[in-house]
Amino acid sequence: MLGIHAERAATAAPPPVLARKIPRLSKNRPMLADIGDKTAMLESAVLDVRGATIQYKTGNALVTATYRVDFSVLRSDRFVLLGPSGCGKSTLLKAVGGYIPPVEGEIRLGGKRVTRPGPDRMMVFQEFDQLLPWKTVLENVMFPLREAGGMSRRQARERALAYVEKVGLTRVLGSYPHTLSGGMKQRVAIARGMAMEPDILLMDEPFAALDSLTRRQMQDELLQLWSDTKFTLLFVTHSIAEAIKIGNRILLLSPHPGQVIAELGCPPSCGAVLGWEAAFETRIHGMLFPQEEADSA
Ligand code: ADP
Ligand code: MG
Repeated sequence: MLGIHAERAATAAPPPVLARKIPRLSKNRPMLADIGDKTAMLESAVLDVRGATIQYKTGNALVTATYRVDFSVLRSDRFVLLGPSGCGKSTLLKAVGGYIPPVEGEIRLGGKRVTRPGPDRMMVFQEFDQLLPWKTVLENVMFPLREAGGMSRRQARERALAYVEKVGLTRVLGSYPHTLSGGMKQRVAIARGMAMEPDILLMDEPFAALDSLTRRQMQDELLQLWSDTKFTLLFVTHSIAEAIKIGNRILLLSPHPGQVIAELGCPPSCGAVLGWEAAFETRIHGMLFPQEEADSA
């Protein structure tokens, strides 16, 4: 399986710190957004990210994490941000979450500018410790429904029970997080996010810390949940194979600072062609690391 190697990003030349010094990638890069009626597409977008440059200030240094990133997520998309470690995927997700404002560009959800966190965007992280350890599975899923959703105890319980069942955890309703496996904890986090029925579910490498068998199982379960409810998903990964499996659209980001290399779509018909995943992986790898391809030619 092809992967993206963190070392490559780590050994690259130090990044320019000021946005205006950053070389732009070719304007001729393939963008699905350029195909068809762009205006109609943007109008129906759940999430619209335009020219998002995001920087961190550390001491007196300025780190440009992403540079003028554009993408639009449509209803029921499984939209994947794919790129090497450090290219700004988590930063973009946090900006969509409303935790970091872009210094340039804007982020709109349902046409409204994102300025702060909200229950219309729920986040699932990689870490296993994102649950409240003193609350049971059911209480963890109920918590945001009560606190952010303003539901009565009965309403929250009903909704939480439905989503705990969707992720197959009804038998551990009363268990505490420390008694669960990593995969089960992630299922609870997914149920908690989905139970809020957000406009968009944000997932930051949610399966990266799981063993490969569990990871594959969780990917299948996520796709099954999606085909049941058709929620809108923005999913971050550095695994090409995972991006291909999960996404119907994939945004390729360059190493630090993250810029859009291309946007790729996976037409439903491609599943019928034997070995298409391997060919697609190779193509994506070549687009992410053109120098590596040129060196081996
Ligand atoms: P990814 O999720 O793609 O691995 P991140 O979004 O975590 O990348 O990071 C993008 C860049 O921003 C990296 O160079 C990282 O070191 C830097 N960065 C991330 N968080 C901070 C922070 N809180 N302060 C300063 N720099 C940060
Ligand atoms: Mg990250």
